[in-house]
Amino acid sequence: MKKRSSEKKECCPENKAGQDEKYMREALRQARKAYALEEVPIGCVIVYQGKIIGRGYNRRTVDKNPLAHAELTAIRKAARKLNDWRLEECTLYVTLEPCQMCSGAIVQARIPRVVVGCMNPKAGCAGSILNLLCMREFNHQVDLTTGILEEECSGMMKLFFRELREKQKKRRAEEICNGALGDVQERQGTEETE
Ligand SMILES: [Zn+2]
Repeated sequence: MKKRSSEKKECCPENKAGQDEKYMREALRQARKAYALEEVPIGCVIVYQGKIIGRGYNRRTVDKNPLAHAELTAIRKAARKLNDWRLEECTLYVTLEPCQMCSGAIVQARIPRVVVGCMNPKAGCAGSILNLLCMREFNHQVDLTTGILEEECSGMMKLFFRELREKQKKRRAEEICNGALGDVQERQGTEETE
């Protein structure tokens, strides 16, 4: 009987980049959900045996929760799905280099492989400031791949921050305008009462 190719668990090395891009696109899809909520657009998926078992996107501001990072949500969901705190044989895909909290959680969850879209020079702990994923001193080291769909991932971040700056500029201009209008109205009010 002919074996279905989809049953193959291991992908050949030349196919790995294609697989990585495929799942990074799924992480980007999650990031777009954050973007739609005016959150910093970061998305994450966790893959086990060719299936996505955990998804997450940044919800820090909407949830008013400093722990609501994309990776932590995805890890929580994947652990629930596998009914185990150890996420062995899983690969985590994230659009932006993980912070110290999420890198710590990745090590705690014993995730063997992490794939990152773009780096985060100001806060990243998978090589930028520290590399918590590959420290010999810890009892777990991660196989790390970076730069998958890098331009798309960083492009989304740049667009988000550009739009944010424009919105803030507009808001400030409106505030100044309203403030000036308020002053005029106040002055008129006092003149009338005088
Ligand atoms: Zn984080």
